[in-house]
Amino acid sequence: MTSILQVKNVNKSFGGLKALNNVELSVEQGTVHAIIGPNGAGKSTLLNCFVGRLTPDTGTVDFDGTSLLGKQPHEINQVGVSRVFQTPEIFGDLSLVENVMIPTLARRDGAFKLNPWQRVDSIAEVREKAEHLLADVDLQDKKDMIANSLSRGDKRRLELAMCLVQDPKLLLLDEPTAGMSRADTNKTIDLLKRIGERGITKIVIEHDMHVVFSLANKISVMAQGTVIAEGKPEQIKGDPRVQEAYLGGAHL
Ligand code: ADP
Ligand code: MG
Repeated sequence: MTSILQVKNVNKSFGGLKALNNVELSVEQGTVHAIIGPNGAGKSTLLNCFVGRLTPDTGTVDFDGTSLLGKQPHEINQVGVSRVFQTPEIFGDLSLVENVMIPTLARRDGAFKLNPWQRVDSIAEVREKAEHLLADVDLQDKKDMIANSLSRGDKRRLELAMCLVQDPKLLLLDEPTAGMSRADTNKTIDLLKRIGERGITKIVIEHDMHVVFSLANKISVMAQGTVIAEGKPEQIKGDPRVQEAYLGGAHL
């Protein structure tokens, strides 16, 4: 197994608070790797270190042979790391298809400097690809609607399409089913399984154990800024340290 992301000795403090404490993580190519842990464990902080929103105080984060540290978010995006945010970041006044076209156009022409002289057929190609992706996430019927009018679950699927259109090597999902109904959650699990077939490596941060155990090949458990246990879902389920971290196993 090849490791696509390697995190070593990562520390991050906010004032006197040690949010990350010697974090070590290795994510294997093509797998779904879940990071779970109680609120405040440092999961989002860790993810922010992967996408250039935060710089660790110490340690290394290597992706596919290059260091992600010191890179700008757009540079990290260009090397193939894409993130679905905890709150969807979409363009509310634009249609779904326009939303999915933007990442391709921005990448091709630089951040939002759309080239007025581009050939019309290449725009048509970008649109066609966007429409394909919307079909993949079951939003083809809504493609001309304004993004703001979507339900929360649909907005997250739209954001996922905006990530997938960039053909990422690594997809980072921070609580992809947060705030969703059970039906929407199951739909999202199915969708993530389907896109798993493309071989994209995924890191999923998730509270919902149903989601974690349905999707993950490997689970890292964080508590108080550090990884306290790691293994296959079956191993994690029975691990007493994990149950303790979740206050008596209420969530498992
Ligand atoms: P999780 O995602 O596991 O719930 P976070 O990574 O969001 O946890 O937070 C870990 C800890 O770091 C928490 O105690 C949180 O309050 C703190 N924290 C996170 N981001 C900041 C920040 N920008 N400034 C100060 N404290 C922060
Ligand atoms: Mg979080």
